[in-house]
Amino acid sequence: MKTALADFIRDTPAGREADAILRSCVHCGFCLPACPTYQLLGDELDSPRGRIYLMKQVLEGQPVTASTQLHLDRCLGCRACESACPSGVQYGRLLELGRAVTDAHVPRAALPATKRYLLGKIVPHARRAGAFLGVGRALRPLLPRALRAQVPAPPAPATATALAWPAPRHARRVAILAGCVQPTLGAGINPAAARVLDRLGISAVTAAGVGCCGAVTLHLSDEEATIAQLRHNIDALWPAVEAGVEAIVVTSSACTSMLADYGRLLGQDAAYAPRAARISALARDVSQVVAGEASLLRGLLQQARANLPATATGTRVAFQAPCSLQHALRLGGVIEPLLLAAGFTLTPVSDGQRCCGSAGTYSILQPQLSQQLLHSKVAALESGTPDLIATANIGCLHHIRSAASVPVRHWIELLAERLPRD
Ligand code: SF4
Ligand code: SF4
Repeated sequence: MKTALADFIRDTPAGREADAILRSCVHCGFCLPACPTYQLLGDELDSPRGRIYLMKQVLEGQPVTASTQLHLDRCLGCRACESACPSGVQYGRLLELGRAVTDAHVPRAALPATKRYLLGKIVPHARRAGAFLGVGRALRPLLPRALRAQVPAPPAPATATALAWPAPRHARRVAILAGCVQPTLGAGINPAAARVLDRLGISAVTAAGVGCCGAVTLHLSDEEATIAQLRHNIDALWPAVEAGVEAIVVTSSACTSMLADYGRLLGQDAAYAPRAARISALARDVSQVVAGEASLLRGLLQQARANLPATATGTRVAFQAPCSLQHALRLGGVIEPLLLAAGFTLTPVSDGQRCCGSAGTYSILQPQLSQQLLHSKVAALESGTPDLIATANIGCLHHIRSAASVPVRHWIELLAERLPRD
């Protein structure tokens, strides 16, 4: 694609990056069938190719309108188009740049602007998010139906066994990212990861003082807040890095993909770039670490399965691969063999590459599209009559749980339950 970027961006690092991405697109349209919003709306401007055209116009200095903003807002950022693209177009990065320029030119109406402001101020902060959810749950019966769907019913309180965190005992050490909403919505997930890693000879410590990974404000185009959050997290993680952890383990795939991007996002930051690159090099989704110890794991699981009642081994699981896992991290197909090794039966799930509609703050900012995607995802997941649904990202877990008729769990919790402590 030929480009002629406008003066305001042409000779900047962001401009050069955007130019290279735009030029890599050959307009072939192979990405269109993979795009959930194009499937739902049938409008080229709600497809990856259409949005690339819109962002090209924006970056070439042509008028930026509310319509441009609307089509970019409707994008989930799921990056299914990247997986489908034969030319390797880095759509996700272009979207970040295109949205930032568009939002700088097109002011939002008071209500959507307030919604976005509040999301940026509440969601990334664990205590505020917890308090906000508590108020929402208390008022849930009084809320209109559309709003009620966005307030999760409280999960069953985690038992002491589910929260048990093994004391460090191995020479191999990793740090686990706590996450912002995860301690509230899935308190047992990180302890389950710590127990599995412990059985694999790796001790996990929680990285104290680390906040949200930064994805929430990045998706809201708040660059200043994102940079501040990333710097804060790097400072908080650094003592663990200096203590020699072999990895920074993340149990929510969207947050893993964000951490893996710190080096790029702070690449121009003289004070933080080297440490940001180090953090990205150390970032691992928990599935990568567990899969790296697959033979040891299989041996332990074989022992554990011998002690299980026959009825327990055939539990039917529908696995939902989050977009961040399969399209951003390219880790599709890593978790399923681990669940099979643990004795679960996987049920078929059609359209497995399609987003569930959670997509960070999308379920709140684009509720209608999000709900349509949610209901078709739940129908696909439940079509094989599973006993439960497993996923790898807290946002998807919470979103799918709001509509599913069977329990929705994090896959590492299932594995931990099959791998009792020694
Ligand atoms: S993004 Fe990729 S698949 Fe889509 S039109 Fe461009 S080159 Fe083709
Ligand atoms: S990121 Fe997802 S929703 Fe956005 S254009 Fe690509 S496939 Fe479509």
